[in-house]
Amino acid sequence: MAALHQLRDEELHVEDVPLSAVAQRFGTPTFVYSRAALSASYREFEGAFKSALATTSASYVGTGTQVTNGLADTRAPLICYAVKANPNIAILNLFARLGSGFDIVSVGELARVVAAGGDVSKVVFSGVGKSVDELRTALQAGIGCFNIESTAELHRLERVAAGHGAVAPISIRVNPDVNPNTHPYITTGLTENKFGVAREVALDLYRKARACAHLRIVGIDCHIGSQITEIGPYTDALARVLELVDQLADEGIALEHLDLGGGLGIRYRDESPPSIDAYAQALARVYGARPQRLMFEPGRILVGNAGLLLARIEYLKPGPVKNFAIVDAAMNDLMRPALYDAYHAVLPVKPRLGTSMLYDVVGPICESGDWLARSRSLVVEEGDLLAIDSAGAYGMSMSSNYNTRPRAAEVMIDGDRMFEIRARERVAQLFEGESLLP
Ligand SMILES: *Cc1c(COP(=O)(O)O)cnc(C)c1O
Repeated sequence: MAALHQLRDEELHVEDVPLSAVAQRFGTPTFVYSRAALSASYREFEGAFKSALATTSASYVGTGTQVTNGLADTRAPLICYAVKANPNIAILNLFARLGSGFDIVSVGELARVVAAGGDVSKVVFSGVGKSVDELRTALQAGIGCFNIESTAELHRLERVAAGHGAVAPISIRVNPDVNPNTHPYITTGLTENKFGVAREVALDLYRKARACAHLRIVGIDCHIGSQITEIGPYTDALARVLELVDQLADEGIALEHLDLGGGLGIRYRDESPPSIDAYAQALARVYGARPQRLMFEPGRILVGNAGLLLARIEYLKPGPVKNFAIVDAAMNDLMRPALYDAYHAVLPVKPRLGTSMLYDVVGPICESGDWLARSRSLVVEEGDLLAIDSAGAYGMSMSSNYNTRPRAAEVMIDGDRMFEIRARERVAQLFEGESLLP
């Protein structure tokens, strides 16, 4: 992926815009994204699978098995960007224009996709707790597929669809029981997790679904976790899903698509996630040349390193044990460090010469968990701008108003232009819906 920022004239730039110009115009804290980086990561993902699958198609032809002319098209993978990673409608719109579908987990996200001009027929709806209202709304909107996560949900959707004289397209989310070796909070494909159903249950659910007049079986899906930095868990999961696909085929249940979820990791510090190419090639090899369309639900890999959080140092607070750089961004803006002990690189926007000191970079919130980075060697002064890197995914989308802090602005850089794609919240907005007792 193209680098998000570079040092030019002794200042950090995103594309052709110096970050001090962003701070001057929009204030801080502000999330800053690069249009070029977002487009590049989408194209890289799409391109990697197109070429990986073209290779397996070629070997398919070589075996002499019958191939239809439409093969190339039906084998083009469908990318359904996971909206929850970063749901700003400008970002959704950018991906929609590149041809993306979307993976949603609420009807709120569906409304965003619609507002962003996304193609609703390319939307898949994941999540363990879809309400009757959500099922109804998504069905009426004409979404592409409901990823069913339990027996109870299957029955609920059948009732909702029957009530509307409609037929709901479904896939069953299978829990392949592989360990992706990532943070326990973002592991989703183990038997102990709440997501999906075990393989034996899945078979039974497909049989039940076949008997439902208002359900149409279109696919199968799995999603094993997030920030995964190895290929093995993916190829294992795919192999297990393919076994199921074959069992289903034996029973006369043919699937149109196979959705392998998201979860591919990015580099925050020293991780070495597989390249998208290596990931695509490994999956394509296991997949071989099957008739189903492959689908993916990438989130972090498309946006994580295409955004940063720009903050300003309010105070330097030296101490006997630790030095603190207290910035105007906090855990309410970027929750990952507090939640997962996550690492984000911290870069001075205008690097200084001098003797560095070790700092914990912390926010103003009244919690000891309110830190953004620990023990970083920095040469900084009060008022300096810092870029908190790799904040494009699960940054703004997990933000809150804790301590009645208005949420940050979001700015998209495109060449030498800046667009405010979300205005900084105003304090009055934060208690708009509240009222005094009579
Ligand atoms: C969160 C999620 C994704 C995206 O995960 P990333 O790690 O951001 O790629 C995809 N599918 C489902 C079902 C999810 O819950």
